[in-house]
Amino acid sequence: MAPLPPPSTVPALLDAAVARFPGQPAIDFMGRRWTYAALGALVDRAASGLQRIGVVKGTRVGLCLPNTPYSVILYFAALKAGAIVVNYNPLYVERELLTQIRDSGTTIMVVPDLPAIHGKVGRVAAEAGLARIIVCPIAAMLPTLHCLAYHLIRWRERTHADPLNLSFTRLIGSKTPLTPVAIDPERDVAVLQYTGGTTGIPKGAMLTHANLTANSAQVIAQAATLRPGDERVLGVLPLFHVFAMTCVMNCGIALGAEIVLLPRFEIRQLMRTIARTRPSVFPAVPTIYGAINTAAEHMRIDLTSIRYCTSGGAPLPTEVAQRFEQLTGGSLTEGYGLSETSPVVCFTPPGRERKPGSVGPAVPGTVIEIRDPSDPARKLGVGEKGEICIRGPQVMLGYWNRAEATREAFFEGALRTGDIGYLDADNYLFLVDRIKDVILCGGYNVYPRVLEEALYQHEAVAEVVVIGIPDPYRGQSPKAFVTLRPGRSVNPEALRDFLKGYVSPIELPKEIEIRTSLPKTMIGKLSKKALEDELAQKGDQA
Ligand code: AMP
Repeated sequence: MAPLPPPSTVPALLDAAVARFPGQPAIDFMGRRWTYAALGALVDRAASGLQRIGVVKGTRVGLCLPNTPYSVILYFAALKAGAIVVNYNPLYVERELLTQIRDSGTTIMVVPDLPAIHGKVGRVAAEAGLARIIVCPIAAMLPTLHCLAYHLIRWRERTHADPLNLSFTRLIGSKTPLTPVAIDPERDVAVLQYTGGTTGIPKGAMLTHANLTANSAQVIAQAATLRPGDERVLGVLPLFHVFAMTCVMNCGIALGAEIVLLPRFEIRQLMRTIARTRPSVFPAVPTIYGAINTAAEHMRIDLTSIRYCTSGGAPLPTEVAQRFEQLTGGSLTEGYGLSETSPVVCFTPPGRERKPGSVGPAVPGTVIEIRDPSDPARKLGVGEKGEICIRGPQVMLGYWNRAEATREAFFEGALRTGDIGYLDADNYLFLVDRIKDVILCGGYNVYPRVLEEALYQHEAVAEVVVIGIPDPYRGQSPKAFVTLRPGRSVNPEALRDFLKGYVSPIELPKEIEIRTSLPKTMIGKLSKKALEDELAQKGDQA
């Protein structure tokens, strides 16, 4: 494998693509396209506009946007102007926005001109201490017909003028050239990526320019078969999430690929976009691949352009991967990562041996260590389960303004992930579970993932989440929440009997509840936290 390139800045990825592929398409948004030259020019104008309104090295610029061309333009522009990008989930409620704005010290926020998002940010702006809100008109990025339709639908929702607001059009209006900013890739933070959303208090992982550029180079090196200047990447995962930020945007730009952006996940629109754009690369999460498999049963869409997919963030059920590969003829393997590692740690590339249940070997330059969670000085051997610890150029500097949490996150320079797993003799990683999700059942550790995987083997089961519930006798017991495939039926007793063939009696769930849907996080992971909160609330009310 070729050596990884030396550390560089994130904007250097774009500059290189603009120089190498100026006339090639960089972005497709609902059918409208921008070349690399056009994207580069917009980024430079936006970066100089940001400097004009006071952005200097280290200013925190928040991006609170659904996927649109603005997400890419403002990300690279803020970084070029020397700012630190703070990614926001536009679905956050006001309290969550306020907490993150204050924690990160965001002073400039970028929003779309959608009242649902701009309104929330506007209402917290004074309390949060925002100096400026940059408002991006969505219609201006749409093809003409879409734009007319958009105005007809949205005309009542126009936002009101406020001196705090600055439109994107004005931001890029000045002809003043950008003042170059010196960036030290290994020390300067590029992005604050808030994490811990599904567990505990969110903290900002400080990802440097070198972390992010190294991770995109690691992914491209491990993938080995991606063709610079000749790929089309489908971006339906939100770019404010670290997985898409790296695997869709940074890798896409580093490859000179065309990035097809979709503002949200809606299965019919996604299927039509695949038919229209014929993407070759498609990073996503298991729920999205599963939804495509189901939709393909009744929508006749040619999926065969899709060559290369990596699923991350949550366990990928084997039958979902197999069906998706049959439909597309492409390769779908599972990877593992987390916000603190920019995020990719490992995945199995096409051409390398695949091991069922494994998330693959580490990407180049990365060392995975398995350590005893209660005595991290003790390194564990092949096949032994312990805490997954990571070393590599993609590992964060630490948590923003949280020295103690940062100290706790590292052991002798290795990042403690809080995930339990083991390595086999070929250094393939197998995930067992998260430390915090382990169910402590009368002195016995029950791993929810083991139960979930067993339940996925049942032909009627579509989705499963297993969590621990209070048990007066054993401390905690497992409870499974299940949804069923369309047209199938099974009752909880039958599922319990089925499980007896897979797990020991102590691991059997105390309760199995069948539901019509299960809560998901913003990127489509099944959410244990939402179910735990629901049960806790019921407990409070009881
Ligand atoms: P986040 O930092 O919010 O992206 O979440 C990272 C966490 O997602 C990791 O610490 C793992 O617990 C989980 N995760 C990532 N990839 C996988 C995977 N392939 N299977 C199961 N869990 C995963």
